[in-house]
Amino acid sequence: MDILAPISRNIIAPLAAWREGSPYLKTYKQMLRTQYDPPEVIRQRQTEKLRTLVQHAYKTTKFWKERFDNVGLKTEDIQTLEDLCKLPLLTKTDLRVRLDDMISSDYPDKSKLVMHETSGSTGVSVVVYSDYDCMEFKRGNVLRHDEWSGWRRGERVASLWTVEPQPFHWWSYLRNKLLSRHYAYLYTLKMNEQSINEFVDKLVKYPPSLIFGHAHSFYLLAEFLKKKRPEVKIRPKGIITTAMVLYDHERPLIEEVFHCKPTNRYGCEEVSLIACECEKHEGLHVNLDTLHIEVIDANGNPCPPLVPGRVVVTDLINRAMPVLRYEIGDTASWSDKPCSCGRTLPLFKRIEGRIADYVVTKCGEYISGISLTTFFACELPGFAQFQIIQDDIDRFTFNVVKGESFTEQSIADLDRLVKQRFGNDVRYECNFMDEIPREKSGKYRFCISKVEKSF
Ligand SMILES: [Zn+2]
Repeated sequence: MDILAPISRNIIAPLAAWREGSPYLKTYKQMLRTQYDPPEVIRQRQTEKLRTLVQHAYKTTKFWKERFDNVGLKTEDIQTLEDLCKLPLLTKTDLRVRLDDMISSDYPDKSKLVMHETSGSTGVSVVVYSDYDCMEFKRGNVLRHDEWSGWRRGERVASLWTVEPQPFHWWSYLRNKLLSRHYAYLYTLKMNEQSINEFVDKLVKYPPSLIFGHAHSFYLLAEFLKKKRPEVKIRPKGIITTAMVLYDHERPLIEEVFHCKPTNRYGCEEVSLIACECEKHEGLHVNLDTLHIEVIDANGNPCPPLVPGRVVVTDLINRAMPVLRYEIGDTASWSDKPCSCGRTLPLFKRIEGRIADYVVTKCGEYISGISLTTFFACELPGFAQFQIIQDDIDRFTFNVVKGESFTEQSIADLDRLVKQRFGNDVRYECNFMDEIPREKSGKYRFCISKVEKSF
């Protein structure tokens, strides 16, 4: 019984918000209402925010003034969301090279802004600054999506995350205990039998209502519980998987072990939450309250539903550092159906993963890493984990962890599948290891292509 939950929700959270002067709870309540607004009302709201943002970006940043002037564009030329395609894409290189010129002169003191730094797992680390109002608006907005998992605000939260265990500080202890309700962390950069057991014991003693964390770390935890501690019953109301692609073959095991469907979420450091599943799990609702999202093909044209394309985001809330038409480096596809939950926010059918994760074949075919990983995982039961590295167009390295059912036949099966997928003349080598190495961020990447591509 979690007696603190209603006290945290109804007394502590409003008091803390009042003390901090934060409107996030008002935003949260507003977000609960607007998620059912008719699509034209949502578009109108986005359009108004966009017009204001474009004016603001032009008037108060050196970078955006130059960019508009260089292509002969006036701020009045952008009246609708469709007009935005007149503006060239913003790249990671722009963010890295022109960072200072992108910060609005309305926010001269950088030390009062919040810095978000990407992990650099795509090869390039970038920094985006945002202002306090933006942060608090997004805080209220994210709370709405958190509750789509089945969790209610105020209830206990456990995480599988890369935050280093911090030295004890009474203020953050109280804040975690009473307000954010985070009480158990599994540090995912050092997951070992001892740390997992300690985490699991804590979850048994104090059952969590929500578990939040890296998609693949959940999968590993579920695998551990099934094999080593099958007697343990952890039954959260919600599971939110984020920060990495949740593979189709990982879902069933997580659901089987925790008796809870994972709520998959997609976001990035630069603009925060981009899309999130609701309780129906029919796709990921795109977060149009804070962003405008495009999915475009190689020629820059909008992709129709079900066709994967490059994700381009415009942050409608961040005024400290306007981010317009930013190409994140991921691919996704729109769904062709609305969600049966009745929310009007459109759906991504699926997040395909990073552009860098696509394997390119000799005949110029692109194969998404997510489909490859699922394919190999399902077809090769002798392998517990699998990582595909494309070193060159016809050369691969496979990092593999042997499973319990591994035999000589597994190698023959792998050889057959590789030839079937990539052609008869590809060369490859297998590295057998105990664990697939992670990125510095703690994330796993299952498919890394080093081949230059123009997707
Ligand atoms: Zn829905």
